[in-house]
Amino acid sequence: MIPSSQLAALRTARHLVVFTGAGVSAESGIPTFRDSLTGLWQRFDAASLATLEAYQQHPALVWGWYEWRRMHVLQAQPNAAHQAIAELARHVPRLTLVTQNVDDLHERAGSEDVIHLHGSLHHPRCVVCGREPSKPLPPPDEPAEGRRLEPPKCEYCDGRLRPGVVWFGESMPAGALDEAFAAARHCDVLISVGTSGVVYPAAEMPERAWRAGATIIHVNPQPSVTHDEREYALSGPAGLVLPRLLQEAFGS
Ligand SMILES: [Zn+2]
Repeated sequence: MIPSSQLAALRTARHLVVFTGAGVSAESGIPTFRDSLTGLWQRFDAASLATLEAYQQHPALVWGWYEWRRMHVLQAQPNAAHQAIAELARHVPRLTLVTQNVDDLHERAGSEDVIHLHGSLHHPRCVVCGREPSKPLPPPDEPAEGRRLEPPKCEYCDGRLRPGVVWFGESMPAGALDEAFAAARHCDVLISVGTSGVVYPAAEMPERAWRAGATIIHVNPQPSVTHDEREYALSGPAGLVLPRLLQEAFGS
């Protein structure tokens, strides 16, 4: 049973923010960033592959790793949490979805205008001119023995494509971060799902929303709550908790 105070907050929300992290993708079988360094990649350190310097020094190695990750995402399916979030948008006047995930599972579940704070595996861009290819890249080949894949050439200049994700040492896209913080400031309810809550801005989103007067609901196997009013925890996997929340609040 979900407490009636949380259901009431959700039913009367005019602007709901859903903020998702790695836990939501993990339930679709997508390894978290650090867990993705298994198999072929186990002798590497995430920090040594996820920087612009690493890409400049070993472009085929870094591109190969990201294409391998993209291949896993394309083989995975959105889960019940992704679907419940897409469905929630049909029950509230306004929903802003902000994710730290770099996959496209929210989009494939039917969510629109997803704000990707850490970029996307599906939107590579030219390392020189910054433009994205005019057509989506074909599904990646299994990286060859030795893990390397040459990054494709940009169609507009002499540059090569780089993954469209935010690397260590790079800032989050300013527009995306501004939009996310504005939504946190103006929402009535923020549901934080599958985030560890420690890495910036994971802790910042619920905190900003709380300070602006919103109700916060954490959905996580081990949620933690810092305020004793207007902040709640629903513990459990997102794929179980969110459909139940949807059912109990809106009967669908
Ligand atoms: Zn270019």
